[in-house]
Amino acid sequence: MKAVAAWSAFARSLKARVLMLTLAAMLAVALPASAAFLWIVNATVVKLGTLFAEKQILFDRYRGLESLMREVSLAETVARSPAIVAWAQDEDDPEKAERGLAELEHYRLSFKDKSYFAVLDVSGNYYFNDKDNTYELARRRYTLSRGNPRDGWYYKTAALGSGCHLNVDHDDNLAVTKVWINCIIRQGERVLGVIGTGVDLSQFIREVVDIPQTGVQSIFVDRNGAVQAHRDPKLVDFHSLTKDLKAKKTIFNLIDDEDDRRALAGIMEEVTKGEVLVRSRFMKVGGHEMLVGVGYLDRLGWFNVTLMDIDEIIDRRLFTPIAILLAAILLVAAGLMTLLFDRSVLSRLARLENSVARVRSGVFGAAIRDHSPDEIGRLSRAFDEMAQSVGDNTGRLETMVRERTEKLERLAHRDPLTCVLNRRGFEEAFAQEQNRALRAGHQSALMLVDLDHFKTINDEYGHQAGDRVIVEIVRRIGGVLRNYDVCARWGGDEFILLIAESSPASLSAIAAKIVAEVRREPLRLDADCEITMTVSIGACLVSPMEELSSAAAHADVALYAAKHGGRDKFVIHDPARHGRAGDPRFKLG
Ligand code: GH3
Ligand code: MG
Repeated sequence: MKAVAAWSAFARSLKARVLMLTLAAMLAVALPASAAFLWIVNATVVKLGTLFAEKQILFDRYRGLESLMREVSLAETVARSPAIVAWAQDEDDPEKAERGLAELEHYRLSFKDKSYFAVLDVSGNYYFNDKDNTYELARRRYTLSRGNPRDGWYYKTAALGSGCHLNVDHDDNLAVTKVWINCIIRQGERVLGVIGTGVDLSQFIREVVDIPQTGVQSIFVDRNGAVQAHRDPKLVDFHSLTKDLKAKKTIFNLIDDEDDRRALAGIMEEVTKGEVLVRSRFMKVGGHEMLVGVGYLDRLGWFNVTLMDIDEIIDRRLFTPIAILLAAILLVAAGLMTLLFDRSVLSRLARLENSVARVRSGVFGAAIRDHSPDEIGRLSRAFDEMAQSVGDNTGRLETMVRERTEKLERLAHRDPLTCVLNRRGFEEAFAQEQNRALRAGHQSALMLVDLDHFKTINDEYGHQAGDRVIVEIVRRIGGVLRNYDVCARWGGDEFILLIAESSPASLSAIAAKIVAEVRREPLRLDADCEITMTVSIGACLVSPMEELSSAAAHADVALYAAKHGGRDKFVIHDPARHGRAGDPRFKLG
């Protein structure tokens, strides 16, 4: 239950809202940031893949295919040689034939394969010699015929009219892949024959196509896309020259989607123009997304196509530490933001809230003391000032209430005219004195003092004059009493005195002194009116456990006796006698 209440308080707090907002802001930053990160990773991978493909093409061009290109150039030179052209024009002329064959023999040693072939168009005769000069004496091997499919390569090549053409052939028996270089011998527009040589590509294919790099396949294709070299011989389109386009094994057959095929054709056309060395693009090959890089080997009329399974070449996990670092930076930034907000806003608001609670419970002293110049600082200082002034006012009000209460208490126990105690005040003073006397073993005494014939003063001089007389009499009585004696107004013109630590002798002395003091000097009521006042006193000693009512009754009896004894005197009540006025049991003063 407690946990639920604490949770719901937290959920409603500003802290929770700030936490949620920070999280939301973090997500808002993290989502596009991670998308951008993935994009950068992909772009980097593609860039690296393209660089790789470019390197591959350069490698193939300048290392692997250099010799092939040299052979093509050489065969082209032979095809243009005047001795060869003359011989091809007139094969039956023994002199031309000798010079032509001598020329072929001369170049044979320059060809890498140390072999050549020549077909002369008019007769269809096929000449050949190999590196061992096996056919020195019988270089004319046989005669081609249009009807023989095995001779189709010649007629197809001748039909092309000019230039050199490559034809890849694989000899399954010898396990060698050969490229036949067929260069057309021409006189003007007339095709006179074809000469050329064969180059063993097995080594090249082993070096270039069978690269051991995982995730990379290097393929050579001709202008039609027919595969000329591939690590899998089954995919190579041997004898391309003599096949129909539809029957060819092309690179396009390896691509899954029509869009990608079209794009590949476009790329091949683009690199043929020579403006860019390599173009690459992701395509689906055999169900895999692969980066396909295409470069053009212009001298051979071949394309080098590199298929790269990027995920195998470049391990994307390499980027994981960067991703972790970015996430950590984001988290730390969010944490710092929350902490900073907590320090600069939330905790200060909490201090302010605590201070409000303290003030509400009546504690005004503890100030927040936030000195910063911002809004919360100003609010805190304003609250401090407010709490201070509320505290001051409350203190003042409390003092006033205390003073008023004391005053009321005083009024409740004092006579307003004479300022001596009233009857209630006297009752308390009497009780205290009785306790004190009991503890100290003292005896106290009581006196009732009544003004003689006071009514006549009121009647003759007015009530106000009577008041002044009462005040003056009290002053005179007070002058006789000691500090610890008590004088109180018992009612009307009657006063009651409590004489502490008293004895019969001292009581008589004090009573006599009061009677004498009142009478001693006349009272001046106005400029030409003076009157002499007297008082009668009834007194008694009070035993320690005695009640006020009992003691007062004794004093009253004595006062009665004094009045009846002629006034202007005192009577001490004698407890042994319990008599009345005029009775010898009363002692007259
Ligand atoms: P006695 O000698 O027998 O005491 O005669 P007395 O005239 O003094 O008679 P009593 O004590 O009975 O009269 C008291 C009078 O005091 C009655 C009343 O009008 C007057 N008195 C009581 N209190 C006050 C007061 O506060 N001021 C004034 N001016 N007169 C008061
Ligand atoms: Mg009187």
